[in-house]
Amino acid sequence: MRATSLPHNAQSAHEKETRCTPGGAAWIWNCVQVFGSLHKRKVDDSAAPMEPPRQRTIVACTNCWKPPAPGDKLKYCGRCETESYCSPHCAKEGWAEHKLVCEGMRKARKSGLAQFEAQGGRKQDFNQRTRDITTRFDKLPGFTNEIMLLAWTHRGDSPFIHAFVTNQGDDWHGTTTECLLSKRTWQTSLDGSGVRVEMMPGSFWDEDPRFPNIYSENLRGQLRERYGRSTFCPNKQYVRMVSMQDSEGRPARVTTTNYFDDKVVRGAEIVEALTTATKAEDLVDAFAWFETVYSSSDAHDMLQDIRHRAKLLSGCTAQQGSVPVPSRALNNEVACRIFDALDLAFDVCLIGLRGAGHLNGRQGVIHGLDHKNYERWKAQLDDGTYVSVKAINFERIRLGDYKRIFKP
Ligand SMILES: [Zn+2]
Ligand SMILES: [Zn+2]
Repeated sequence: MRATSLPHNAQSAHEKETRCTPGGAAWIWNCVQVFGSLHKRKVDDSAAPMEPPRQRTIVACTNCWKPPAPGDKLKYCGRCETESYCSPHCAKEGWAEHKLVCEGMRKARKSGLAQFEAQGGRKQDFNQRTRDITTRFDKLPGFTNEIMLLAWTHRGDSPFIHAFVTNQGDDWHGTTTECLLSKRTWQTSLDGSGVRVEMMPGSFWDEDPRFPNIYSENLRGQLRERYGRSTFCPNKQYVRMVSMQDSEGRPARVTTTNYFDDKVVRGAEIVEALTTATKAEDLVDAFAWFETVYSSSDAHDMLQDIRHRAKLLSGCTAQQGSVPVPSRALNNEVACRIFDALDLAFDVCLIGLRGAGHLNGRQGVIHGLDHKNYERWKAQLDDGTYVSVKAINFERIRLGDYKRIFKP
């Protein structure tokens, strides 16, 4: 069998990393202002927000897993026009594996394209439309991280994860995805409020006779192919599908095999540890995490801020270069910062309040430091109201899977 060749006019599979305004920037800036006399950070720096590991669309060569070199593009396999490689060398090397699925992928693309053309789309716009839809979802703050952690949690079950857009007012039921899809518009997905995520374990999508009622038998075949590859590694990869109507109102779906980002997975693990115990090594891990995900100067500022918070909360003085002694309140604050960087919701239950004892037991989500009172955090309660509480007065609760935070 000859190696597949990369046609000269191969479309680019490269997608720019999408960047959203990091919610963490304003929040960090607030701390910097509070401790302005201690930080020599210039005002101009506030315009250069930190770049935490969010909204990352990992588009990499199927063979070597490396993203394309700067200025370079991945190229599609000349047959299926779906799988992408960084170089002819990788396409050749990956062929022994890819040849098992190339034909199926070719057919899937062909039928998707045929549908697209039947609805008035032009062939040359098809790949761009696919990229537009992927970008649309990946731009939503926290979306990629939410999906990735859902996949990570269920990685032993060959999970099929589907994100789709529903109108806010829709009465949503997981089993009516297809019929609701037809009602959705491109516009409703803009702020992410209408995006729903569902997960099906392999035991359902692979075996349950109800699956083809919801999705096609063809999709089941595609999932089997993706999960069945000998190179598929459940600790490194996951499969997801996003669907919505495109800008012309045509229903479209994009299935991809994506890669886990160690930083995101590790961030979630550290938050779990920080919020279940108060062990010195967890803060050490958190400090190392910030140093991995932020630039060295941003990490330096972040860690100095945390040391100041430690002093404020418990009088603990930690020298530059050292990690403070953990406490329930400090751990909460550090965990909040990690989730803030990942745009994930930090769900809490209020505890130990004396003046406002009637609020004890209420649940909510943390929305950063209270800008009016830097000792406190803003929590949005389940009825939509906001309260300002100290970090000692909330504890993290786990409401199932990780969810991105919706910032209105
Ligand atoms: Zn490669
Ligand atoms: Zn191919």
